[in-house]
Amino acid sequence: MSRLDSFINRMVAQRACLNFIAAQVHGPTLTEPVLELGLGNGRTYDHLRELFPNAPIFVFDRAMRANPKSAPPEDMMILGDVRDTLPAIRPRLGAGARLVHSDIGDGSRDTTEPLIRALEQALPPLLADGAYIVADQKMSVPNWHALPLPEGIAEGRYYIWQYR
Ligand code: SAM
Repeated sequence: MSRLDSFINRMVAQRACLNFIAAQVHGPTLTEPVLELGLGNGRTYDHLRELFPNAPIFVFDRAMRANPKSAPPEDMMILGDVRDTLPAIRPRLGAGARLVHSDIGDGSRDTTEPLIRALEQALPPLLADGAYIVADQKMSVPNWHALPLPEGIAEGRYYIWQYR
């Protein structure tokens, strides 16, 4: 498969998984926190804002490099390494986040693996009961139950868990 095909498949999977969760939680009515790990260009953040217009969306990245149209409000953009910034956000989350979307892989196994292992430790204390985790990388956490992917999305292309 060409890199273009692979990229397109990943984008399709990402959108399908986020839309699936929005349907599960009645997206427009959600007022509990959403965490976006990896702002990048801001494409998925922009999609999350459409799906969850009433939810506070906390956005994490090392730097703000998004298209200006997708810039989060200053007080919702949490700059720094997520390994440092995630624990510090806990007091702002009330009963916990209802959705975490993690798209933080950089294509290198050497840097992504340790980061994902750190997220497996950092995320559980931030979650509300019943929270969904949608991610580009496989994680393995007790009480996170893998959900079937939306129709047409190949196994392993993206991941969805529910914490319960
Ligand atoms: N979802 C984004 C979009 O739709 O445009 C793309 C995200 S991009 C693939 C991954 C982002 O994760 C990059 O912007 C990178 O700076 C960020 N990132 C990677 N490791 C990080 C870390 N340890 N802490 C904070 N941000 C990190």
